[in-house]
Amino acid sequence: MQYVLYGDQIIKRDQASIDMEDRGYNFGDGIYEVVYIYGGKPFSMEEHFKRFAESAAKLEMKLPYTLETIIDLTVKLIDANKIHNGIVYIQMTRGASPRNHLFDRESSCLITGFARKMDPPVQAQENGVKTYLTEDIRWLRCDIKSLNLLGNTMAKRKAADHGCHEALQHREGTCTEGSSSNLFIIKNGTLYTHPATNLILNGITRQHILTIANEENVDVTEQAFTTDDLLEADEVFISSTTMEIAPVIAVTGDKKGTYPIGPITRFLQKKLKEKINQPTVLN
Ligand SMILES: *Cc1c(COP(=O)(O)O)cnc(C)c1O
Repeated sequence: MQYVLYGDQIIKRDQASIDMEDRGYNFGDGIYEVVYIYGGKPFSMEEHFKRFAESAAKLEMKLPYTLETIIDLTVKLIDANKIHNGIVYIQMTRGASPRNHLFDRESSCLITGFARKMDPPVQAQENGVKTYLTEDIRWLRCDIKSLNLLGNTMAKRKAADHGCHEALQHREGTCTEGSSSNLFIIKNGTLYTHPATNLILNGITRQHILTIANEENVDVTEQAFTTDDLLEADEVFISSTTMEIAPVIAVTGDKKGTYPIGPITRFLQKKLKEKINQPTVLN
C-alpha cells in the first residue's frame, strides 16, 4: 500500500485527488524538492527545505505550515512507506482557484508528496555516463526549483534519443548545467562550475562538493566556462541528489568529446560518500 502526503495528512494514494483547476495542474504554478533516503534516513533534509522555502518566497507563495511541520510530515511519509533506500518527493502548488493568470498572494497552497524505493545508481557512479550537449532553452529563473520543467524535459528526451543518460545545456556557448544535475569540469587540477546565478539551480549536492573541495584543498572556482573548455577538460562530472557524482565519459551533440574517469572525480565521489556515511562501493 502506498501512502502519500496530502495537505497535512498521510493518506492512501487512491484516496488523494487533485482539483481540475489546481494551479499546479493548469500553470505549473508550484515548486518541489527531492530528498534521498539512505538506510531510512533522509540526507540533507534541512538544506532541501530551506531551498523549498526560498523557492516559495521567490514566487510569492505562502507556506501553509512551518518548515518544521513540513519536515515532520515528510518523515511521517517516509516511515509510512517503510523506505530504506529511496527518494521522497514533496511539491507545493498555489492551490485551486478559477483559472486566471493573475494569482492571489494570499491563496492557500497545497503540499503533496510521495516516497518510493530506489537504489543508488551504482552503475553510473562507477562506469560514468554519456551526455548530449544542447542549447539551454529554459527561462531566466532557473534558480527556482519550479514545476515548470519543459525546457529540462525536452533536453532530456533529446539526450535519450541519442543514447545519452543526461543532457548538458549551454547558452550561446556558455555551459550552464544538466537537465536535472549540475555540471563540473576539471582542468589542470582546478574544479570549475557555473556560479549560482539565475541561470542554474544551486544543487545541494553541488554545495556539498564545493564545501568538500575547500576542506580538502582542491582548487575550485565558481566561474562559467565555454563548450570549448568543456571539450578540453581533463575530467567532467555531473551531480544531483539521486546521482551523487556521476563521471561524464562522453559528450555528443553540439560538440563531441570523450573523457577518462579521473582521480579528482574519484576523490570527490569518495568524500561525498563519506559525508553521506555510506560504505564506499567504488574502487
Ligand atoms: C534538482 C536539480 C539539480 C540538482 O540539485 P540537487 O539539490 O543536488 O539534487 C540540478 N539542476 C536542476 C535543473 C535541478 O532541478
